Amino acid sequence: MMKFSPYDWAETDMIGGNAALDFVNTASRWATEPVDRLGGAEGFAKWARIAGLLDDDDQAALAQEVANDPKAAARFFDDAATLRAALHRIFAAAASGATAEARDIALLNNWRARAARHCEIRQEDGVFRRRCAEEAPAHERAMRLIVDAAEDLLLNGRLDRLRACGGDDCEWMFLDQSKNGKRRWCSMATCGNEHKVRKFRKRKKQVA
Ligand SMILES: [Zn+2]
Repeated sequence: MMKFSPYDWAETDMIGGNAALDFVNTASRWATEPVDRLGGAEGFAKWARIAGLLDDDDQAALAQEVANDPKAAARFFDDAATLRAALHRIFAAAASGATAEARDIALLNNWRARAARHCEIRQEDGVFRRRCAEEAPAHERAMRLIVDAAEDLLLNGRLDRLRACGGDDCEWMFLDQSKNGKRRWCSMATCGNEHKVRKFRKRKKQVA
């Protein structure tokens, strides 16, 4: 079990440029002692609402699902956290051009199959569309969007632009969509600014 450390999520924390990256960013200190920043299915629901994966009604529905069956909700969150760790390893490998572990990709494929259960192809007014059942449990729908985003990133994304923030103790991952491809920080307001302040202090010290 990962240690839980509460975090007050805000829209400005969704810096990944992809829902699966934002999901991976709900845990940190992967290399040493991973810390979870969601704390369970209800924390996941709150985060998913802020991340734009669920609306208010969905969040309420998910809270109801948790209340109706806390054990199933705990199981769901354990599974989701296991996928989160696998996605982190896959993305970290992809970012450095390494080969991802087969069992992590197998786990992602399991989730794909699970997500696909609720979706089908339909032809409506002559146009083919993928339609996904709205009656699927809210947590499954949120996870479907995360799994879709992971697939889209791996198949269509610019993996050469996949980065981890260089800030101390940060590691948040993002897709660098800057023109010059030199984005180093999750956000200029947090890690980028800290770096600037440190550089400034160092310079002042050297002058003194
Ligand atoms: Zn950062």
